[in-house]
Amino acid sequence: MNPNRPVILAGNWKMNHGPEASRMFFNAFLPGPKNRARARIYPSYLSLETALSSGAAAGVEIGAQNFHYEKSGAFTGEVSGPMLSEIGIHQVLIGHSERRQYFGETDDSVLKRVESALSQGFEVLLCIGETLQERNLGRTEAVLEEQLKRICASTACKGAFGSKLHLAYEPVWAIGTGVTATPEQAQSAHAFIRNFLHTRAGEVAARSTALLYGGSVTPANFKELLSCPDIDGGLVGGASLKPDSFQALWDLIPG
Ligand code: PEP
Repeated sequence: MNPNRPVILAGNWKMNHGPEASRMFFNAFLPGPKNRARARIYPSYLSLETALSSGAAAGVEIGAQNFHYEKSGAFTGEVSGPMLSEIGIHQVLIGHSERRQYFGETDDSVLKRVESALSQGFEVLLCIGETLQERNLGRTEAVLEEQLKRICASTACKGAFGSKLHLAYEPVWAIGTGVTATPEQAQSAHAFIRNFLHTRAGEVAARSTALLYGGSVTPANFKELLSCPDIDGGLVGGASLKPDSFQALWDLIPG
């Protein structure tokens, strides 16, 4: 953490929690205010409106798990920016590894989504991270560079870093596996990302962009991860589904 940047605790519910379960979650999760910290949940599309109405009162930001770059048209199964804005959603998660792995999203389509979301006024959390095979081959930094280079070359993205565009480093091998990156591994990747931002997008982008860590974050490992200088919060899957574990993560963030 660093006083120049916000701390963000974001929960990605993936394909879990319909409207009723979402309502119950927000009946129990009461984050309470903290100076620099923001609590956020990305529910399924179907639960967005319920989460908005029940979560907003508790001060929780609500965002969508994906975003189509076109505003309307023949894209069966997709949801567009104007539709999300209409119901009051202004946050989106883009490029999650499950979207890349199971739904064929590429660095190019991710870039289109990010640019379109930013042009429509959304705040974007962009996910990047290497697979186990890539890490074992010593390619972690090369993969992060590949995933970030088009983003950093985009004028729209460059100007949004630190205000409307933040990043989540999620090593694919740590997502949903119970194997968390060590604080040293996570800090090393985050420092690499921040230096890359500095070189390609400038000093302000590097200094002000929040870099969240994601991958089997739990109340048992979050405090140590948060103590790393370049880790500004967490993107949490499993431990965000239950109000008590998400509350425990929130409570670990200094007030
Ligand atoms: C995620 O879904 O982005 C994630 C990090 O999941 P988990 O916390 O369950 O590993």
